Amino acid sequence: MTAILRFAPSPTGRLHIGNLRTALFNWLFAARENGTFVLRFDDTDKERSTREFADGIATDLAWIGIHPHKTARQSERIALYDAAAETLKSAGLLYPCYETPDELDRRRKRLAARGLPPVYGREALKLSQEERAALEAEGRKPHWRFLLPNFEGDPFAPQRTDTRFDDLIRGETVIDLASLSDPVLIRADGSYLYTLPSVVDDAEMGVTHVIRGDDHVTNTAVQAAIFTALGARVPRFGHHNLLTTVGGEGLSKRSGALSLETLRDEGYEPMAVASLAVLVGMSGSIEPMADLEALGERLDFGAISASASKFDPAELDRLNREIVHALPYAAVEGRLAAMGVGESDWEAFWQAVRANCDRVPDAKTWAGVAFREIAVPAPDDEAERAFRDAALRLLPEGEIGPETFKAWTSAIKAETGAKGKALFMPLRRAITGLDHGPELGPLLPLIGRQRIERRLGAG
Ligand code: GLU
Repeated sequence: MTAILRFAPSPTGRLHIGNLRTALFNWLFAARENGTFVLRFDDTDKERSTREFADGIATDLAWIGIHPHKTARQSERIALYDAAAETLKSAGLLYPCYETPDELDRRRKRLAARGLPPVYGREALKLSQEERAALEAEGRKPHWRFLLPNFEGDPFAPQRTDTRFDDLIRGETVIDLASLSDPVLIRADGSYLYTLPSVVDDAEMGVTHVIRGDDHVTNTAVQAAIFTALGARVPRFGHHNLLTTVGGEGLSKRSGALSLETLRDEGYEPMAVASLAVLVGMSGSIEPMADLEALGERLDFGAISASASKFDPAELDRLNREIVHALPYAAVEGRLAAMGVGESDWEAFWQAVRANCDRVPDAKTWAGVAFREIAVPAPDDEAERAFRDAALRLLPEGEIGPETFKAWTSAIKAETGAKGKALFMPLRRAITGLDHGPELGPLLPLIGRQRIERRLGAG
């Protein structure tokens, strides 16, 4: 049987790193199984879903290297959900309810006051044909609830009904259907909540595995009952732990925090983001993986921690740095060109500066140092001025090449007696205007004689 997986974001914002965790678990699992990966936009919420967000999500996934085999939109599949809703209605499993949110709220409070769980008491199921007609005549529109199979003969006497499933990640999981309210599947305005369309699509698309966040564990018990009511096979489910901020807050698509779009704009490498999204909260070291294939080899559902994992931006910086320091020129050529600074030997430039870049765009600072006119601070004192004069005088004749630095510093050392930090620091300050940065040796030929002389004070 071919594995069919799907990633089903609602396009109500851009993806954050927690969403990416779900997407990658599905993508990497599908790849391992030689299966199919469907990108499905759960866009039945017309108010909050937009085409722009959907397109943005596809762009974010492509940046990571996720290229769905198929894309679907729930808004284009409403007829399928209507048909399923009719099936459930005729089976008496989807019933109209007329309570307002206020009424439900009061009822829940009364239950709480009596120390009872806030489970819907199926009051609407008791309504006669006439009572319903009267409510509708008042202008009330029904919302529709699915009758959970948690009773023997009498729906008003629910009994403990354990739904068990062998979760791909959490192992044996048990949910008591009697602890849940009958879920609303259709709102009073006729629109669908996510629950039914998701089941209908998973069944129609032949989805074999559903991997999603553990905030959906309870939904799974409900959805398994709907699959069964529709005569469909229940897929295998896996629920992974969620990511939070370092402060422990949940990530939200709508807040835009830690969105892939922002991380991309800030110059992070996709494999740094992908590696962390998968490996955080999983036993084993968190290292930057070379590509998605290598990352897929690390995927181990048995190794995922049961509790939420914190996403630490410092960790992302570390992974990014490790990747950038080893990036070959070919991998950054286009991005350096797009920065549009400098025209000289970019390959030598990248070799000279990459160890000093946390992110590729940091190269822009060094490009300024290498190829632009920069203002270097005036010498601190007379001694530093004398040092700069000597350095200027002792700069070897001819073209500045890879060997120049060695010859030059030996000559300065011989004349001034300066060595170690006392030699390199004032030189670095004079030439780059900074007290830290890439090795000077490889940088000198890029900076070139004219700029070196000017920065040392020669006019
Ligand atoms: N649209 C749902 C969500 O974003 C999908 C959940 C699922 O994968 O079934 O939470």
